[in-house]
Amino acid sequence: MSETEKVIELAKRRGIFWPSYEIYGGIGGLYDIGPIGTRIKNKIVNLWRQIFVEDNNEFVVEIETPIITPEKVFKASGHIDRFTDPIVECNKCHKVYRADHLVEEFAHISAEGLNTTEITSLIRDKGIRCPSCGGDFGDVREFNLLFGTTIGPYSDSKGYLRPETAQGMFTSFKRVYDSSRQKLPLGIAQIGRVARNEISPRQGLLRMREFTIMEVEFFMDPEDKDVPLWKYGEDIIRVLTAELKQKKEEKPISYKVSELVSEKAVINPWMAYWMATANKFVKELGISENNIYFEEKLPHERAHYSSQTFDQMIVLGNDKIEISGHAYRGDYDLSNHAKSSGQDLTVFKKYSTPITVKKKSVIINKDKLNNEDKNLIKDFMKRISNLSPEQIETLIKMDEKINGKSLSEFVSVVEREEKESGKKFYPHVVEPSFGVERCLYISVANAYREKKDRIVLSLPPKIAPYEVAVFPLLERGELVERARKIYLMLKTGFDVMFDDSGSIGKRYARSDEIGVPFAITIDPQTLQDDTITIRDRDTWDQIRVKEGELINTLKELVINKKR
Ligand code: AMP
Repeated sequence: MSETEKVIELAKRRGIFWPSYEIYGGIGGLYDIGPIGTRIKNKIVNLWRQIFVEDNNEFVVEIETPIITPEKVFKASGHIDRFTDPIVECNKCHKVYRADHLVEEFAHISAEGLNTTEITSLIRDKGIRCPSCGGDFGDVREFNLLFGTTIGPYSDSKGYLRPETAQGMFTSFKRVYDSSRQKLPLGIAQIGRVARNEISPRQGLLRMREFTIMEVEFFMDPEDKDVPLWKYGEDIIRVLTAELKQKKEEKPISYKVSELVSEKAVINPWMAYWMATANKFVKELGISENNIYFEEKLPHERAHYSSQTFDQMIVLGNDKIEISGHAYRGDYDLSNHAKSSGQDLTVFKKYSTPITVKKKSVIINKDKLNNEDKNLIKDFMKRISNLSPEQIETLIKMDEKINGKSLSEFVSVVEREEKESGKKFYPHVVEPSFGVERCLYISVANAYREKKDRIVLSLPPKIAPYEVAVFPLLERGELVERARKIYLMLKTGFDVMFDDSGSIGKRYARSDEIGVPFAITIDPQTLQDDTITIRDRDTWDQIRVKEGELINTLKELVINKKR
């Protein structure tokens, strides 16, 4: 069995995750999260909420918006036209494949960002044939990944399931801004289900058709220099920049968070802030920092709305997996929604003291112009109507002629000083975006260990399904009763499970396999001298402590356990 197969086998056997609708043969890309998986998933979500929202709650708030979204929203956001992947169909067996993946798998060339004609040519040139029946392929075409539906009983009221939570934050930006402190920066966070009609989801929880996303749309003034990078002190982030990629380098380089800004590796300091936050979060999932890096996307690899993107990558065995995406969305979304909805989505930022600005304006010499013939007036208006004062000034300097007469006879440009109390602008947006199930899979696979012939899931206590398991050694009345008392006592401060069924060996094995860091056992000696055994999941070492010291000892052990 491969490492991945072993993790999937454990996940099914211990209730972490399994294919949905299994009794009907399952449906690709849909997974159930089981009882243990749900506990781990909730802890991952809570950890994310703590690090991204609560630790930043002076400027980050959380909202919830619908999954069902009217078509107009995705027209404005560009998803109707551009949220697509290239597909190709076998002419013989009619199986459909993701065309760029086919080229990557069989020709070992990256086809990310190539257009359909280019991928069609590559498939032909490299002689790629259907892996299933050997048939040849038709032309590559774009397939839209949005799941469509109708809203209510009217078939013309088209809607889609959201493929990201982001658009809910953009369409409600003004409402959140006006109802909160009306100041930038403002981060709007959301955790929710999304759906993408992926073409061939074969990689378990890594590529699903329905999953949970955790995103922040962080709205800010692009000129804001007051970014609290100090929060990350001397933290180091590993980055494979676009420049390195262009030189075919594969090794990321280490930057201090502040150096990412000073060396202009990021387009805006807030990108570094959220990448550092993501780095911290992923380390808390138990991933070693040597196995985390950010990969900058080349321009043709980026989504349509982004002017800089970094994927946060995790090295897991021989695989490199994207755990989160960090996109600089600029004002793309707000300006497009403003255009489409006719609403003003700009903000006004007051300067601390008004500033004086020099403004040029155009003055038309109407008396002179009105004495000219109709054709000249028409040509004159046509020539200058869409030009800025600066452009008109240049034309005057070049002695531009209208029907043989100098432009300067009819128009002049003057400069005046004006006071400005603030500026009106579209905030720019930085977006860190995590898939929860990917975090779940990566955390579980990263924690998977084999010790002798047993499996141990070495999850950090913060994301383990329980912190402590309580076991009576035997199914004897007094022991079970005492164990239950201790279980209830521990419940006030820990996440505890109780298990009194089966042999103690089996119970230890189960708690190791689901990743419970500590198991405590109540045995006949407990009844005599009030001592209890604490067993460590990873070392299998046991210590005996007095019942009165149990809570403090466990607290210390849980805090100090890294994994
Ligand atoms: P994206 O919006 O494509 O940048 O995706 C943001 C994050 O969502 C990724 O970094 C993944 O963690 C996760 N993700 C994207 N697509 C899928 C998928 N099909 N199944 C599971 N997780 C996904």
